[in-house]
Amino acid sequence: MLDSFGRDITYMRVSVTELCNLRCRYCMPADGVCKKRHEEMLTEDETITAIRAAASLGITKLRITGGEPLVKKNILSICERAARVPGIREICITTNGTLLPSLAHPLREAGVSRVNISLDTLDADKFRYISRCGELTQAVDGIRAALEAGFDKIKLNTVLIGGFNDEEIPALAELTRRYPLDVRFIELMPMYDSGDFGPEAFIPYTVVLDKLPELVPVDPDGGVAKLYRLPGALGSIGLISPVSAHFCAACNRIRLTADGRLKPCLHSGDEYSLKGLDYDGMVAELRRAIVCKPSWHGVLNAENRSRAGRNMNQIGG
Ligand code: SAM
Ligand code: SF4
Repeated sequence: MLDSFGRDITYMRVSVTELCNLRCRYCMPADGVCKKRHEEMLTEDETITAIRAAASLGITKLRITGGEPLVKKNILSICERAARVPGIREICITTNGTLLPSLAHPLREAGVSRVNISLDTLDADKFRYISRCGELTQAVDGIRAALEAGFDKIKLNTVLIGGFNDEEIPALAELTRRYPLDVRFIELMPMYDSGDFGPEAFIPYTVVLDKLPELVPVDPDGGVAKLYRLPGALGSIGLISPVSAHFCAACNRIRLTADGRLKPCLHSGDEYSLKGLDYDGMVAELRRAIVCKPSWHGVLNAENRSRAGRNMNQIGG
């Protein structure tokens, strides 16, 4: 379905939980989230009904996210059922990777074709610092499991944080020479109340180009990343610039939160509740949300924080 600015909305990110087994500093508060009541969250059936309703309006691609989607007990059932919804052509998942050792193969079998794994550093101490409680070895084991499970595509997502991981850009990019995976560097977004990062942390994507002069531009793949490749590499390097060079004019996505709110724009407080609605009610609300999708997300920087009204673990990235 086209929105009011002629953008064809074909991609829905579906957050299945706000909970997580990590506490990344840029994503959620140190003490985690105030667990909502079960009745406030979408049930599995409601999630699948919302996906059917979205597919009827032209959504073809889903990304399952969270919180950490793999802590959700019924994650395989959600993926399996979502993959069977007529019109849905692709199911991707975004995960911190720590639970992939046991879940990579079952997810592949459930119909997930692509996986994005978040990895901000290759240093064990820094991993512990940024995630507040995680172990790098768990994420690395997860990446290995994903490589073995035979997904169509594996991407590593690195949030660029000035003074934290900018010196690691070459080492992270180097992974694309050794393994069949892509690395994407994403600008840090100033969310609601997560992260006490100062202005120096918000570095633009161009830092990657400065650090890697050998990068060669490659044709875009229809996504929002500017794509490059290291000579001889197996995978590409993607640069995603929501802050310094927004891509709202090409935005084709909507987001469904775990508590059933449709967000037509990541950084807007506008939400449309699907909780408790039947299929027809959801189709109507989805239409309203798509028609009201704003043209862009407004100024975003260290001083002008996101107006999403939620932290990233409550949206899904
Ligand atoms: N737990 C999963 C994971 O970490 O991949 C999925 C949910 S997480 C909210 C989705 C993505 O959002 C991750 O790649 C994470 O790095 C990114 N993210 C979270 N907070 C962010 C922020 N403030 N700026 C940029 N990216 C952020
Ligand atoms: Fe959890 Fe992902 Fe947020 Fe890290 S980025 S706290 S892994 S939801």
